[in-house]
Amino acid sequence: MSENEISVPSNFIRKIISEDLQQNRIEGRVHTRFPPEPNGYLHIGHAKSICLNFGLAQEFGGLCNLRFDDTNPEKEETEYVESIRQDVRWLGFDWEDREYFASDYFDQLYQYAVDLIKQGKAYVDSLSAEEIREYRGTLTEPGRESPWRDRSVDENLALFEDMRDGRLEEGQSVLRAKIDMASPNINMRDPIIYRIRKAPHHRSGDRWCIYPMYDFTHCLSDAIEHITHSVCTLEFEDHRALYDWFIDNLETPSRPRQYEFARLNLSYTVLSKRKLIELVKEAHVSGWDDPRMPTLSGLRRRGFTAAAIRDFCDRIGVTKSDTRIDIGVLENSLREDLDKNAPRAMAVLRPLKVVIENYPEDGEEELEAANHPQKPEMGSRKVPFSRVIYIEQDDFMEEAPKKFFRLAPGREVRLRYAYFITCQEVIKDEETGEIVELRCRYDPATRGGNAPDGRKVKGTLHWVSERHGIKSEVRLYDRLFTAAHPGQGDGDSKDFLNPASVEILRDALVEPSLKTAQAEDRFQFERLGYFVADKNDWDPLRPVFNRTLTLRDTWGKVSKK
Ligand code: ATP
Ligand code: MG
Repeated sequence: MSENEISVPSNFIRKIISEDLQQNRIEGRVHTRFPPEPNGYLHIGHAKSICLNFGLAQEFGGLCNLRFDDTNPEKEETEYVESIRQDVRWLGFDWEDREYFASDYFDQLYQYAVDLIKQGKAYVDSLSAEEIREYRGTLTEPGRESPWRDRSVDENLALFEDMRDGRLEEGQSVLRAKIDMASPNINMRDPIIYRIRKAPHHRSGDRWCIYPMYDFTHCLSDAIEHITHSVCTLEFEDHRALYDWFIDNLETPSRPRQYEFARLNLSYTVLSKRKLIELVKEAHVSGWDDPRMPTLSGLRRRGFTAAAIRDFCDRIGVTKSDTRIDIGVLENSLREDLDKNAPRAMAVLRPLKVVIENYPEDGEEELEAANHPQKPEMGSRKVPFSRVIYIEQDDFMEEAPKKFFRLAPGREVRLRYAYFITCQEVIKDEETGEIVELRCRYDPATRGGNAPDGRKVKGTLHWVSERHGIKSEVRLYDRLFTAAHPGQGDGDSKDFLNPASVEILRDALVEPSLKTAQAEDRFQFERLGYFVADKNDWDPLRPVFNRTLTLRDTWGKVSKK
């Protein structure tokens, strides 16, 4: 184990695996899998499962497969398969050549089903879906047996073939396991294992018109792939008996076991594919990778690093009881990473023109600026200065209270890396009264930001030279929902969409060193926050930056007002 792994808190699944290894229950082999259904993009909840499954394999010198759980022909698409591959890779994990599809096992699964029929442990039921539901019973009442439950093996084999060959219509019959209609566990009341769906499949095309159900497919896929620990979320706890039943009643190449952990719930967002699909389809966001989405591709475009997401997954740990994590925890993992690693730069989002009257008309000079205040190894860059610069509009107040430490008439401030300036005059638009320009004077003796006479100023402002700055679009993102738990209970999460979750500024100016930036480069814009060069829309001639995060967590303060 390397040093940084030791700091990771332990969890109950690690303990189970260590014991299995010690007691020689798994032939010294750890093999996990991450099994997404390709019916949407991966989200931060999936990251928890990816980090857990791939992490366990890494830690115990084992393997982790990527398996597309694609048994549902109607909802699955190749676009999703491609995005899932990309996201898992981006997160930093490698499944090497072990990429599998449940649909590749359709032949084998069919044979397993035939085997169950031959053993008298599965039957073709001709009840309608409605009747099957009625017969199932409830938590307090046992179910009733279907009148078709005692069909002969031969009749079942023939009917199952009819299903497979398309001679029966959707809903006319299903294949069910013959277990126990009185079981207190509803999952054991003769669960459906195959149904007819006359829909083409994204990989097998029209070859099949019957499709195996999740519970049947999952355990057998695990067994086929020699998975040792099949880790899933808590809602499958009650399905474990069925998982074991299939494995115990069929000749499988290996004996996997299922373990359940609590899924991730995160405040101020939704983590259900169904709800995320709605946001995309109804155009509440610009797509799956909209920077406000909790999808991995959205977080990436927002400026999240894979390292920060992995760090977050380590911190929240893995438990057996439901957890709701504050989104601030995720943001703090990222803030720590960016604070350490993002180079600094200056950008003015809402520019206010400042003319430095005593600076030569055509003069300009380059000032030295550190790329990171605590990391000299990150180097420095030159920032050009000239007579006309821009500062942030809210860094000036005409009638400033005493505690306002920025610029005001007659007050002196420091321009970061440059000079002290004093405001002499405020120029307004004659008609609107809007402040359009400040006339200032600078003190040439304060070059670099310090006065030789030792006089102090309270404020330091960021700025960009008019002649050198690059006009940019800056997109200020905020949380997508205004409620901590949007749509919990009866509510519709969309009633809590934050109307101010994005603000687009088109007149921002950034310092010229950002000309060489590339899509996905991240920066701290001094005093403003962390920003990323947009992955999709980046153009060095017309830069687009997304705000990833503010410097501090300001949300708490705002929402308490
Ligand atoms: P959703 O509820 O968003 O539809 P899902 O469980 O249907 O998710 P799958 O594609 O089946 O999505 O998930 C793949 C794996 O990721 C599964 O093992 C699942 O348990 C796990 N997973 C999904 N959501 C979460 C979550 N919020 N926290 C932890 N693991 C999750
Ligand atoms: Mg699922």
